[in-house]
Amino acid sequence: MSTINKYQLSSHVLEQAQQEDLEQLLFICRSNIGLVDEEQITKAFKLCYLSHDGITRASGEPYYYHPVEVAKIVAQEINIDDTSVIAALLHDTVEDTDISLEDIRYWFGEEVAVIIDGVTKITGVFKTRDSKQAETFMKLLLSMAEDIRVILIKFADRLHNMRTIQHLRREKQIQIASETMDLYAPLAHRFGLFSIKNELEDLCFKTIDPTSFKFVARKLREKKESREAFIDELMMPVGRQLREQNLSFEIKGRPKHIYSIYRKMQRQQKPFEEIYDLFAIRIILDDPHTKEDCWRVYSIITDWYTPIPERFRDFISVPKANGYQSLHTTVITNQGKKVEVQIRTRKMDNIAERGLAAHWKYKEGEQSGSDTLDRFVSWVREVLDNPRPDSTADFVKDFQLNLYQDEIYVFTPKGELRTLPFNATPIDFAFEIHSEVGERAMAAKVNDKMVPLRHKLRNGDQVEIITGTKINLNPDWMDDVVTHKAKSRIRQFIKQKQRKIADVGRDIWDKRCNKGKLEITDQELTRIARKFKYESTQGLFYDLGTGSIDVNQVFKEAKKFKSTGKIDQDDSEILESSISTHDEVQQKYYEAARAFGQGNALILNGDVSHVKYTYANCCNPIPGDEVLGFISRNGDVKIHRSMCNNAQHLLKNESDRIIDVRWAGAIDSTFLGAIRVIGEDRVGMINDITDILSRSLSTNMKSINVSSDEGMFEGIITLYVDGINHLEKIMKRLEKLQGVKNVLRYE
Ligand code: MN
Repeated sequence: MSTINKYQLSSHVLEQAQQEDLEQLLFICRSNIGLVDEEQITKAFKLCYLSHDGITRASGEPYYYHPVEVAKIVAQEINIDDTSVIAALLHDTVEDTDISLEDIRYWFGEEVAVIIDGVTKITGVFKTRDSKQAETFMKLLLSMAEDIRVILIKFADRLHNMRTIQHLRREKQIQIASETMDLYAPLAHRFGLFSIKNELEDLCFKTIDPTSFKFVARKLREKKESREAFIDELMMPVGRQLREQNLSFEIKGRPKHIYSIYRKMQRQQKPFEEIYDLFAIRIILDDPHTKEDCWRVYSIITDWYTPIPERFRDFISVPKANGYQSLHTTVITNQGKKVEVQIRTRKMDNIAERGLAAHWKYKEGEQSGSDTLDRFVSWVREVLDNPRPDSTADFVKDFQLNLYQDEIYVFTPKGELRTLPFNATPIDFAFEIHSEVGERAMAAKVNDKMVPLRHKLRNGDQVEIITGTKINLNPDWMDDVVTHKAKSRIRQFIKQKQRKIADVGRDIWDKRCNKGKLEITDQELTRIARKFKYESTQGLFYDLGTGSIDVNQVFKEAKKFKSTGKIDQDDSEILESSISTHDEVQQKYYEAARAFGQGNALILNGDVSHVKYTYANCCNPIPGDEVLGFISRNGDVKIHRSMCNNAQHLLKNESDRIIDVRWAGAIDSTFLGAIRVIGEDRVGMINDITDILSRSLSTNMKSINVSSDEGMFEGIITLYVDGINHLEKIMKRLEKLQGVKNVLRYE
């Protein structure tokens, strides 16, 4: 701790200008955060000022302005606690000054040190990686950051850097802006920091396409007055009546987010005016107004203006998945113009703007203090650990934090990110890269150290596979792999191997029969095999091949059977000898299937059971779907999805042939599922879709059918899936893809 003496934090007296900066920061903290340790913030401010002293930013301003501004954003926009403000003040010290993490720990304690360490570390992650993988990054960050504040500070840091980006060289500006657009903005959105996300997008837009930005901004300014006049006139009678009823409220009518207007213009190919007119008027009721008051407002508005019933939405009783609550109605003004009006309380508005943090704050009540953060973090953790639905479940779903727990993120030697299931090994990783890499894997290096192939990988590991020239696949690996890809390839390999051995066994058998002049049909041999407790001749051949059964023993039995026509085992009655015709086989199936009609469910487990069943082509059911079985004329059971039109028809007309079927807990095969993706017809869309499927979801596609029309894209994709969860996961991922509007199950 060489630097401690250099900084006399407690005795240092700030100059007038810095004192004013500090006062301003403290003021923001006091008005946004419950409990503020002003002494610690002052100390952090002084250290920030002193350690960055003499350094300037590209703008020529003293460097310390930056961390102070970041701290203000943290206090104002994120407002969790004073610790995050302190960490924000010091976020660049360890990387850029002679202050060490030890110093920070000495002055401000472990908590602040952990956060600053985290901010320094994740900065590196952002730097080197492919920005197309925003979603995966979000998860990597969440799994890397021990403390949620690390990520929040990172957003604030980037926001201030974007606010001051004009001082950088043009190419640097573009580079930072596109990285922000691709990575930070979607992450801020996923994290529920909606106003930060909007500002980031506007700043990026302004940097990347200044002409379009200025165009929309100028149009907005021009329209401002007429828009305000329009709202004033519209709301005058309503406002009067609201005040008479003692409702205190605020009206927001001007859209602030320029980029979203531009995006809409592009997407809908409409001029500014048409888009702009669509923006809603928002009536926000001050605290402590309730949802009942929202309904009162609604009733007053519709006293004055005629609502369009189809456009009414009640997101208060049924909030959106991300927690958004509001009443939406569209009314017709006296001039015949349509206007959307949104009605919500202050609390609902805060959640709509600030998402996660605000939602949590309200959930916990208004108090905040030193344990506020603990509860925030533990709430996030709880969400991470508990996929169980509770009161917050709908809200949480949108963030899908719970998913991250069963996945890990590892890097290829080139720095590409791969998602693997928890407990994955280098063998899984190798198959993930390419089946050939998996088959030839000899050894693995993790973070430059040699590890056994069955070593369990951890988050953030960089993995390298060393391959040989020959196939090195080991059937024992079956126990060490968790991915479907690796499992199915190893299984296939084992089967091939078994088949080869069985072929050898058949050779041995054929030779023995030739030598003994015995002619025996396959049907007859099946009976012999059964006598030795094999399910099929294949099993018998395999054991003959490995030598675990003596060929002479089998030959003796076969010879005896040939001469007597008998097998001296009593379990022969289960053999097909009693069923001689095809019809009888069918009858047998039919009866078995019928038996399920009497209250037992047929369990679908992927194996052929004594009841023969197939999946209907009309609806392609997959495990997890609600299904029912229909006994066909030949005794097979056809499995339909319950909601399938054909199934509905059968239910109505031939209900006595319907049987109850259920999925077995674990089914070890893949099914065909189809989805329909609708979105913008943009360059790279198909690429992005196939990329998500094959890379991050390791899903095989059977076919993709694409059509596009008037800038819209429609793709019908047929995929191999394990079941409904797999399919839903795919759909959710694709929904998040840029430009995708809708993802539906396709039949
Ligand atoms: Mn910074």
